[in-house]
Amino acid sequence: MQLVLLGAPGAGKGTQGEFLEKEFSLVRIATGDLLRAAMAEGTELGHQAKAYVSRGELVPDELVTELVKDRLQAPDTTQGFILDGFPRNVAQAQSLEDFLSASGRGTVTALYLEVDQEALLKRLTGRRVCPKCKASFHLTNRPPKQEGKCDACGSQLVQRPDDTEQVIRHRLEVYRRETEPVLDFYAARGQLKRVDGNGDLDEIFSRILKVLGAAKR
Ligand code: AMP
Repeated sequence: MQLVLLGAPGAGKGTQGEFLEKEFSLVRIATGDLLRAAMAEGTELGHQAKAYVSRGELVPDELVTELVKDRLQAPDTTQGFILDGFPRNVAQAQSLEDFLSASGRGTVTALYLEVDQEALLKRLTGRRVCPKCKASFHLTNRPPKQEGKCDACGSQLVQRPDDTEQVIRHRLEVYRRETEPVLDFYAARGQLKRVDGNGDLDEIFSRILKVLGAAKR
């Protein structure tokens, strides 16, 4: 299965992506996580990405597309993958299709998590993440077992620096302008599947499995 998760910031791509990763033992590739790791390590890519990420702008296509193509060349992705946060515009979507077809790997299914506008803001401001293992929590929707601590590795949870209200508003604008057209790109090719991303996390996951034609194991 080759999946692309689409949806606004806060739509639940990370959380549902984690569920899908476990359910199907697929490799999950989250470009935001890769960029934050590069920034934390202080690599050349990290330096180049930092100004864009902190303002809520998209990092230039050449940088992100190379990052994804490199990752997709690793053998662990041949059984399938989940892309979370990529593609973010039509040029990236086209590069991905070209890359996959040139390497004889078929196409992707694009899964669009549709979430109401008010819910997005609430989810983003309440989001807390683990800086070490990247797990994602929410103060009310998905609280950690122990307050402020990651369930998986016990690290202190943090708020992403780009989860402040001002940057969030900008990220939502960028999403509308740049990423929404990606929905039409996949719809026109018959590759888009829509899922109602509002409500309870387990319910949403069941809807996803239904749309993918897979029952929960
Ligand atoms: P995310 O964790 O997916 O919300 O991504 C965080 C930030 O990383 C975004 O606001 C962008 O600045 C950058 N980013 C992540 N994925 C991409 C992408 N596919 N293209 C350009 N910038 C990206």
